[in-house]
This record gives sequence, structure tokens and C-alpha cells, in this order.
Amino acid sequence: MVIEDAAHALPAKYKGRMIGSMASTSQVPLFTCFSFYATKNLTTGEGGMLTGPPELVEDARIWSLHGMSRDAWKRYGSEGSWYYEVVRPGFKYNMMDIQAAIGLHQLRKLPEFHARRREIVQKYNSAFSSFRQFQIPIEKKNVEHAWHIYVLRLNAEFIGISRNQFIDELRARDIASSVHFIPLHLQPYYRDKYRYQRRDFPVAYREYNRMLSLPLFAGMSDQDVDDVVEAVVAIADQYAIGARAARSA
Ligand SMILES: *Cc1c(COP(=O)(O)O)cnc(C)c1O
Repeated sequence: MVIEDAAHALPAKYKGRMIGSMASTSQVPLFTCFSFYATKNLTTGEGGMLTGPPELVEDARIWSLHGMSRDAWKRYGSEGSWYYEVVRPGFKYNMMDIQAAIGLHQLRKLPEFHARRREIVQKYNSAFSSFRQFQIPIEKKNVEHAWHIYVLRLNAEFIGISRNQFIDELRARDIASSVHFIPLHLQPYYRDKYRYQRRDFPVAYREYNRMLSLPLFAGMSDQDVDDVVEAVVAIADQYAIGARAARSA
């Protein structure tokens, strides 16, 4: 079985097909997990969505609510009966109706949210692509990106400050940014349990040290986007290594 983490991949597409819709064409059982946590492209506050082969999804549904063979809606609905069976020692991992109601409305707005995210990404890309100080995110062939986060990577040869200093400089200009993500092998539990060294995962460690995430959400105004661009460009210019190297264009 393959279980895909698609927490960042709503509503992404690969070769024209929605991520999460490929179970029927997969050679092995394929589950896809989405997150509806507060920061995600579609939110229900907490919660998420599982897609996969219908009979296995039905199985998961039973596990998610006390191992019961019918859910409360059916029991108390007009066509339902009082009868149910506990067929497994299940969990209480169900989504609340209140969350589902929020999610249905979010779902309707998702195309609009996505269009706005894409627009902001295009503004960022066109503002930053000429700077050698940065590596900007790309959309690979055959991929329609969900643009959950906008990761900007610093090119150390062309910029004289670290990622941490860059984030501090942004904060000094009232722009919040973050890092997605801190590699697991640096987290104390995994580091200590498996005795990892920083460079045991050299690519993750290298990229971690040069990446930051800029503000990206559908509610950003054009002014917000301009403010971010202005701050990023100012820092890039201020700390450029070699005046003539500042812009590649
Ligand atoms: C948010 C997120 C998760 C966790 O989702 P939850 O709904 O909080 O369980 C997992 N993986 C990635 C990549 C995420 O961004």
C-alpha cells in the first residue's frame, strides 16, 4: 500500500488529474491524505480528508467512529433505524458536522482561493526572478501546483546574510515569514533516538539552511503583496555580494 501525504496538494493536478483521484489507476492500493488544518488551502479548523479505493475508505470510515457499522446520521435520519453494530475497537477520529459545514463552503471557494494564490506567486516570481540572490520555486512540467507555500531559497554566493538574518530583516520591515520545514532528523526526539548528525541528510540540511517561506494566502491584498516584494527586494539589494552581480538580467 502507498499512503500519500497530500497536505499541501489541494487542489494540485498531475497530468491533468486531481491529486487524490488516482486510486483506480494505481497498481497497488493507494490512499491519499489531505489536511484541513487552519493554515491549509482549504480549512475546517482541524480535520482532513482521505481518498482511496472505495471499499478501503469505507473501512477507514468505520475505524474513525467507534468501529460502528453505521454512523449517527443514518441512525437518526428519516430513513435510518436505531440499530448499529460495533465491528472493531475503533477510534473517535470523525469530523464534526460543524466542521463539515465549514468545509462545504470552503470547497466552493477553493477555485477562487487557488486562482488568487497563483496570481500572488506570479507576482513574486516576476519580482524575484532577476535576482541572483534567490532561487525561486518552479512548477514542473505536467504539474499544476497547489501553491500552499512560497519557498524562496537564498544563493549564498550572491547574498551576504544567512537565512536567519534574512528572516530577521523581514521582521524588522513588519513582514512575517517562516521555514517549511525543519528536517525531522534535527528534531530532538529523532536526533537523540537515532543519533543523527546534522549532515546525515545532507540535501535536507543544506536546503533547510537556505529556505524561507513568504506570506501567501488568498486574503492578501495587492498592497500586502507589494509590501512583501518591496521588503524582499530592499534586503536583496542591501546585502548583495558584488554590485554588478546583484541582478542577472
Ligand atoms: C499540515 C501537514 C500535515 C498534518 O496535517 P494535520 O491535519 O495537522 O494532521 C502533514 N503533512 C504535511 C506536509 C502538512 O503540511
